[in-house]
Order: sequence, then C-alpha cells, then structure tokens
Amino acid sequence: MAVPNLTNILKRILKQPTAPFHEYHVRNEILALLKDCPHVKIKQDKFGNLLATYKNGKNKSEPTWVLGAHMDHPGFVRNPEAKNDWTFLGGVAKPEVEAGIKKGLRGKPVGDIATWKFPVKIDFEKIEANACDDLVGCAIIIATFWELATLNLSTTFHATFTRAEEVGFLGAWQVAQKWPFGKDAVFLSIETSRPVNGAVMGGGPIVRVGDRLSIFDNEGTAILMTTAKEQGIRVQRCLLDAGACEATAMQAAGIRSAGVSVPLGHYHNLDEKKNIVPEYVMMSDTRALIDLLKALVATKHEGIGERSIRERVEMRMEEYAPFIKASKKHFK
Ligand SMILES: [Zn+2]
Repeated sequence: MAVPNLTNILKRILKQPTAPFHEYHVRNEILALLKDCPHVKIKQDKFGNLLATYKNGKNKSEPTWVLGAHMDHPGFVRNPEAKNDWTFLGGVAKPEVEAGIKKGLRGKPVGDIATWKFPVKIDFEKIEANACDDLVGCAIIIATFWELATLNLSTTFHATFTRAEEVGFLGAWQVAQKWPFGKDAVFLSIETSRPVNGAVMGGGPIVRVGDRLSIFDNEGTAILMTTAKEQGIRVQRCLLDAGACEATAMQAAGIRSAGVSVPLGHYHNLDEKKNIVPEYVMMSDTRALIDLLKALVATKHEGIGERSIRERVEMRMEEYAPFIKASKKHFK
C-alpha cells in the first residue's frame, strides 16, 4: 500500500477540473486516494456528496467532529438547454470574467466544464492553482485521514465532500437534511478564505468565529482554540466576513457548526486589480491546519468552553468576596 503524502495529494486533487454541479473529476480522485486508506469507509449520498467515516476501535473524539470541504469552484459550465453556450457559475462579477476571457485565460473545455488555465505549482512555501478554494480543503481532509491511519490512531470521526457550494451551499444543505452523524456531532467547515480583520497569509490557520452571514458555535470554537494552544499551533482567531461558508448553511439547518480556514490569496481568482489570476495558499498554513485537525479529532474535550468560564467566574466570586461584602450597603 502506497501512502500518499501531502504534496502527492495536493497535486492529484488540484489538477482536477471542477465547477458547480460538475464535481465528478474531484470526487473520483478523492475516491481513488482514499480507496486503500485503512479505517476509512466512504459512500455517496443521493445528491452526489461524499460521506466518509474514519473508525478505528471504540474511541471517539468528544464531540464527534464532521470535517467538511466542498468540491466545486467558480467556473464555466455548458448550458443545460443550449449546449454550445457557456455560463459562468460562482461568485465572480461579469466584467472580470469577460476581461479574463478576452485575455485568453479560459482553458479548453473538458466535457461540460471549462476553467481558467493555470497550472498547479507546489513548493515548500506556496501552493498555487486555479482552485485552491476548496480543493485545498478536500486535500487537507484526505491528508488528515491518511496521517491518522498511518499512526493507527484509535478514534472515530467523519467528513463530507460536498457539491455546489459556490452557488449557495446546495450540497451541504442536502447533507444537513439527512444528517447521518448523530445529533451531538459538530460540523467543521474546512475552507480557504480571504484573510480580513487582522488575519494574514502565513500567520497560521484561521479559527473562524463566523462568516458574512452568521457566527458559529461557541463551544466548538473554544475547543479549537484550546486544542491549538495545547499543541503549540499558532492560529488566528478572526471573523472572516468577506465570504460565507458551509458552517452557516449547516447551522441554519440546526446542526452545531464551527469553521477553520487556510488564508487564501487571490480569492476567486482575482488579484488586487481584479485581474484573473491563480489562487494560492501558504504551505505552512496548510500543514498547520492538518496538525490541528489530527489533534482535534483525537481528543476528548467535553463542554470545555462553558465549564472553564463558569469556573473562572466562581473563582473570582470567592477571590473578591470581601469587596462584594464591603460594597453591599450601597446596593440595598
Ligand atoms: Zn470555498
């Protein structure tokens, strides 16, 4: 059994053409990469999302985590009605898309898909491709599965690889309707996102307290922060409100959700001047997120956020008891 390393996984996933509703090349590569991965079982739901479970022994993470990444990226798809017409699907404004086409940046169609024609470039520092969002997220989950399996680590957790996120979380919504992971499981969106509100490229993975549309589960976020601290992993805790992620959709469907992101350069293939360019992420941020996820799904952290706040307040009540007593007469 050949164990794929992070660079192999990234190369194989990032070179797959993808677009909303046309995620099958990415799906096939995920299935191929995880086919021989010990302890991992994977199936496709009715909508075409992949649902995966790592189960080795009786141990479970606490809470049970469901890592989620999406398999699509903004791109050109053949019109369902007029086969010679192409529609650009996903969040890029029309003038920028048209300028990109004029510059000859649109690649040759692959079946019903066409993407910007940028090669995959990976070195020790940087990962550059047409679709880091969210194929880097998919690669991170695959690497997490393989690295835990190689360590023969005993735990249970799940993952979703979804369709059609870029057109409004359609795949995630379908997963939420059937939610097969139990009511106590917590969804964790694994994204690549534009760093805003103080976050920077190379500053470590971002613990995303929320996105443009909602804020996320307090306890889940606290557990992420505690795990990062215990492992000595540098993270950035930020509100990433320049975009929205699947945690918002899952949460709206009643599922506890949190989010993490790898800082993304050239979000949706736009540079500072709105030219069409490749997206990129830093290798160090990507590597650090895998390490954080490995620790997260291997640890029990029941209710840690709430308990520690209560403990702290109760301690302070005792510590300041003489002050409370002395000032009491003014609050009669
Ligand atoms: Zn995304």
